[in-house]
Parts: sequence; structure tokens; C-alpha cells
Amino acid sequence: MSRVYNFSAGPAVLPEEVLKEAAAEMLDYKGTGMSVMEMSHRSKPFQAIIDEAEADLRDLLNIPANYKVLFLQGGASLEFIKIPMNFMRKKKAGYIITGQWAKKASKEAKFVGEMVTLASSEDKTFSYIPDCSDLPITDDMDYVYICENNTIYGTKFHTLPNTKGIPLIADQSSCFLSEPVDVTKYGMIYAGVQKNVGPAGVVIAIIREDLIPTEEESKKIPTMLNYKTQVDNNSLFNTPNCYGIYICGKVFKWLKANGGLEGIQKKNQEKAAILYDFLDNSKLFVGTVEKASRSLMNVPFIVNPAVVTDPEKKAALEADFVAQATKAGLVNLKGHRSVGGMRASIYNAMPKAGVEALVAFMKKFEEENL
Ligand code: PMP
Repeated sequence: MSRVYNFSAGPAVLPEEVLKEAAAEMLDYKGTGMSVMEMSHRSKPFQAIIDEAEADLRDLLNIPANYKVLFLQGGASLEFIKIPMNFMRKKKAGYIITGQWAKKASKEAKFVGEMVTLASSEDKTFSYIPDCSDLPITDDMDYVYICENNTIYGTKFHTLPNTKGIPLIADQSSCFLSEPVDVTKYGMIYAGVQKNVGPAGVVIAIIREDLIPTEEESKKIPTMLNYKTQVDNNSLFNTPNCYGIYICGKVFKWLKANGGLEGIQKKNQEKAAILYDFLDNSKLFVGTVEKASRSLMNVPFIVNPAVVTDPEKKAALEADFVAQATKAGLVNLKGHRSVGGMRASIYNAMPKAGVEALVAFMKKFEEENL
């Protein structure tokens, strides 16, 4: 067996310990004589799995009792429309546009009410997080929406926007559980789990209780799109992604056994520093993001156009880098088509040794091609 270092933006690397445990339990989960894949979602063993997953997540994030935890399906993209359908009471919301995912979410809001763009970093290809200390937020807004970590562009909100008392809703898909978070600062946090937490097909939502639609409001929201439906049924209104939730639960335990969110934050900071320090001193490569906005999870970089001035030569060099890296067991480094170049996603489960191997490879490539 030979494992690669997988820098995919998602679905992405998972902790090897978790995969091994799941493999060992594949045919017979804890003496049930069946795999979790084969198990009824109404069975006792599965109820224990989902209950334990929620308890461990609450523990990790220190989630207050007045927040509901939901395990949902439909991808993060389905939340884009559910959020305005559930929360737009005054039919107006503010969006901060820091990339494609925030933009897509804002587009869905227009199906329900008025979408106000509060700030945007599109003028510089989303390479920074705008100043959000004094945005044109008004009392008639139901919520302020952000994409907290921008997977494609490699930016992250290091300071949350001043929402002037309006509930903040955050897509944390690509930074979920990568650092401690003060849940009380949010009306809702949600994340597709396929980056930091588990296999694709589960979305975790953490929602402040008072924002959940009332009985009366629910009359106008289709059942499966209403958060109240899943709140009332503890995420078991219909068949959930049982196996996905089971793996998420294992990742929560892995995090708890490895120093919790403080522990993983320290490791993530160390890993990112190795890569950013190299980029800041490289003659061939350069990062694409303003330093103050850099993500610890997604690191886009390109061949420096000031050094390789011919665009065709630059593109060829980047393609060669990705191809050679793949041969060396460093895979999925091709950048998103809207940024070009390369992107290394270094989520929780990427070991430090993987980042060190990438930097060693980049050094060698630089020496050979400069
Ligand atoms: N938000 C962010 C920040 C993402 O990175 C992605 C997917 N890469 C999405 C939303 C969409 O997720 P899904 O494919 O689960 O709908």
C-alpha cells in the first residue's frame, strides 16, 4: 500500500487512524454483525453514533445549549437557498462577497428577498478580505452572510465583521474545526464536511434556537427545506447519511484525542507557516493572497510573473510542476481555474511531513528551473 500526500480542496485527506478504524469495523460494527452502512437509521447502535457525534462536537466547539446541531444533506450549496427561506423575515439580508461561494449564496437570496452587497473583494480577484468594521448594515436586515474561509482564493476572515447586532451567518466549509471558535458570535455556522471533517454528503449546521422558524412561519417553508423539520426530529426526519455521520464522529474523537481545537490550531499554524515562509522567500513562486487575509487551510500560489514574464512559459512551468509533483506522490496541486497556478489545501488531517515534503519538492523545482 502506498499513500500519497493529497492536497485536494475537497473531498480531502482524512486522518489515517480514522480510516483504519473504519476499515476494521467495516464488516462487523461493535458486535452488531453488520457494517454501519447496512444499519437502520432507527436502530439503537446508530442512535448512539449520532448522539455521540453531536455530544463530541458540542464539546469540541463548546456549543451553548441554545444552539441546535443538525446533520443535513444536499451539500453546502443547498444551504444557500435554505438560509434566506428560513431567516429572511423582513425580506432583506446583507452579503459580503469574498469569492465564488459567497456569490453563489447571494444569488440564491434573491429568490426570497432583497440581497444587499455590503462589501466585495472582486476588484482584486478576491485576493483579500475587505475591511468589515463599519459596513452599511441597517436594522431591517435579517442577517449578515459571510463565507469565512474562501477555498478557491485562499483567504480567511481573521476578524469577524461588525454586524451591528444583526445575526451573522457563516459558511465555514473549508475552515470548520480548524481552530477554536466563539459560537455565540454567530446566528448560524454551517459546513459541508468534505474538507476537514468527513466524507462528502453531510452538512453540519449549528443554529441559534431563536432563529429557527416558528410553527406559523413553517407553513410557508417546504418541509425538507425547513430547519425546524430537522430540529424537531433530531436530524432524523428522513434517512440521513448514516455512514458519513459515523466517520465525522470518528474525526471528532480524533480531534479530541489530539489536543482539541487549540491543539489542531497550533498544528495548522505551524504547517501554514512552513509553506508561507517558503513562498515569501522564493524566487520562482509567489502566493496570490494579501498577507493579512491568508487562509491556514488553502494556499494558492503561482510561478512569479515578474520572474517568468512570458505567460505561455509560465503556464507551461506550472503544468510541469503539477505533473512532476504528482509523480513524486504530492497530488491534487492544480489551482482552481479562476486563479490558475497551484493550490495546496492543508486541512487538519494533512500531516506536517506532507507540507515539508511539498516545500522540499518546491525548492528542488526552483533550483532546477530558475
Ligand atoms: N462553500 C465553500 C466554502 C466551499 O468550498 C464549497 C465547495 N467546495 C461549497 C460551499 C459548496 O459545497 P457543496 O459542494 O457541498 O455544495
